[in-house]
Amino acid sequence: MTERLRRQLLVRSSRPVDLDQWPSDETFGWNKDAAKGELNKVIGEMAFIQRRLMAEATQSLLVVLQGRDASGKDGLVRHVMTGLNPAGVRVVSFKVPAGVEKDHDYLWRCHKAVPARGQVGVWNRSHYEDILVPRVKGLVAEDVWRRRYRHVRDFEQLLADEGTRVLKFYLNVSHEVQRQRLQKRIDNPESSWKHDPSDLSDREIWPLYEEAYADVLRETSRPHAPWYVVPADNKWVRDLVVARIMLDELVDMNPQLPLAEKTLKGTTVV
Ligand code: ADP
Repeated sequence: MTERLRRQLLVRSSRPVDLDQWPSDETFGWNKDAAKGELNKVIGEMAFIQRRLMAEATQSLLVVLQGRDASGKDGLVRHVMTGLNPAGVRVVSFKVPAGVEKDHDYLWRCHKAVPARGQVGVWNRSHYEDILVPRVKGLVAEDVWRRRYRHVRDFEQLLADEGTRVLKFYLNVSHEVQRQRLQKRIDNPESSWKHDPSDLSDREIWPLYEEAYADVLRETSRPHAPWYVVPADNKWVRDLVVARIMLDELVDMNPQLPLAEKTLKGTTVV
């Protein structure tokens, strides 16, 4: 079942990406209440495998989240990672590079944030901001952001070669749902602190981001680090899609408990 979902949402580098053609409100015929129960079950299964991942301590999983403002990156982290052992999860939110980050190449801070062996890493925004933002805002010459496709493909290949599985999710929210969420955020005193004027200016250049995202997804979706376009207009669909694909990957990683139990046979605790 998840295999079909993965095939359906996978970005293929051989085809141009037109994000308008990817439905943001797809529900796959799921039922909202049942989906919540299913999410809890999936998280429980992930937690079980996560224990083995931590014990094995040879592989790691990196989940990259990208998406427009209010596409639900924070909510997804809250809903899907709650239930895993926090000791084995590292969530990193990437902001505008500052301080010492600006004194290094753009991948420097990312490489430092890669999950250690045995860990699940979640990146709320990522090195992809270093292609998208400079491109849409015209901060660097085209050849500079364009060559970064190659850098990030190679970087992710290195991670994969060295034992880190990389899953990348683009949370695909529609223009209208983004409007509703930003408005709600502004109107609600409990969430208005989150409002950033740049959310509105970025919204004004929606088509530029759309084009930039389309290219990024196609240029950097590879078998060792695939992109999935997640329908994100409904939070419960978004969460279940990502959780299911994560679980599927963890099952495939098949972490094993260390052999200690065999060598301990006959040992008595007094
Ligand atoms: P979020 O919007 O993710 O909830 P913030 O409101 O702190 O969190 O926004 C982070 C901002 O940092 C976003 O506008 C994002 O585009 C920007 N950002 C992150 N990484 C980079 C980067 N490498 N270059 C430019 N801007 C970046």
